[in-house]
Amino acid sequence: EIYCDNAATTALDLEVLDAMIPYLTNHFGNPSSSHQVGRKAREAVEVSRKTIANLLNASASDIFFTSGATEANNLALTGAIKTYELRQVVTSRIEHKAVLQTLGQFNQPNEVEVNFVKLDAKGNINYEQLEKRLSINPQTLVSLMHANNEIGNLNDIERIGEICKKYDAIFHSDTTQTIGKYQFDLQQLKVDYLVGSSHKFHGPKGVGFIYINKYKKIKPHIYGGAQEKGTRGGTENVAGIVGMAKALEIAYRDLKEHQNYIAFLKSKMVSNLKALFQDEISFNGESESSQNSISNILNVAFPRLHKGGVLVNRLDALGIAVSGGSACSNLTNVGSHVLKVLDRNLDKDSVRFSFSKYTTPQEIDAILKATVEIYEQDLFAKKTENT
Ligand code: PMP
Repeated sequence: EIYCDNAATTALDLEVLDAMIPYLTNHFGNPSSSHQVGRKAREAVEVSRKTIANLLNASASDIFFTSGATEANNLALTGAIKTYELRQVVTSRIEHKAVLQTLGQFNQPNEVEVNFVKLDAKGNINYEQLEKRLSINPQTLVSLMHANNEIGNLNDIERIGEICKKYDAIFHSDTTQTIGKYQFDLQQLKVDYLVGSSHKFHGPKGVGFIYINKYKKIKPHIYGGAQEKGTRGGTENVAGIVGMAKALEIAYRDLKEHQNYIAFLKSKMVSNLKALFQDEISFNGESESSQNSISNILNVAFPRLHKGGVLVNRLDALGIAVSGGSACSNLTNVGSHVLKVLDRNLDKDSVRFSFSKYTTPQEIDAILKATVEIYEQDLFAKKTENT
């Protein structure tokens, strides 16, 4: 079995599991209970909050726990629109569905107008156009991600933050793919809402967080108890929160080493694919670039493949897990909205490879070998079909 789909989710680090076990067993208390058992759980939640805040150079009081990045994005966007009674939103067509679908709920005549920034052929944002739009319409909510989860493109969120500040816009960034992979300084970055999801950095699933800039408020989105300062009611996922903090600690402790290693894996994959396939393939978005894309994502188009999904399915049959688009869009079978924005046809014959610290160079070799075999068989099948 080879797992090369780390943009979808990552394996739990065993060090993280060790940190979680006491909170799944002996220290099972409800953090809101006032007895010792409860206080033990509360302490773990608050220490974790502090750990995450310190790693991002934020204050603990700016971090709110959620069930993941989908919920955090929902909370940020719904909360900002309702709290500040916003009528204008700017986003992009290649944001995650957790952003696009949430904004879609508000995109009604006389309610909220959702506009999309211009993207070039590789999915890069036109910053000048963004600035122009904000200069005409201040009091806008801007929602632009850091790294795209399908094609890996990196947006310049520092620049976006500066532009937003200049025109008094509120800036939300879906940083799900970059938390734990890039250093963040939230005292410096001009961002109002930012989100993370534990399972993308070797933590457990079903837990994430939102950072809310202390100068911004947000209306509750889950009503109930007074947990998370009333912003999000519900008993905290104590073991999950402890695991997420531990996972983030490890991610930043080993950041340089792992990022260099993962970048090496990607460049190995790129150079081998180029040597083997030459002009039979192309790289989607900026994913080939070591500067303009995140190091763990490589999205490759094989336009001569017989049918869409051939490669993904055939690799799966050989025990190699890769992906056609994002895991979330597999459920709806509509294909990748991101690739469709770049080019209508890409979506049918593209594969996303995404690496982690656990990926080995031998696995890359095995994936390449399998890919060549499947590709040749497929072209041969096509040829015989045509004769
Ligand atoms: N945003 C991005 C960019 C993502 O990659 C993902 C995970 N596919 C999400 C949001 C949703 O995260 P979660 O699984 O924690 O809900």
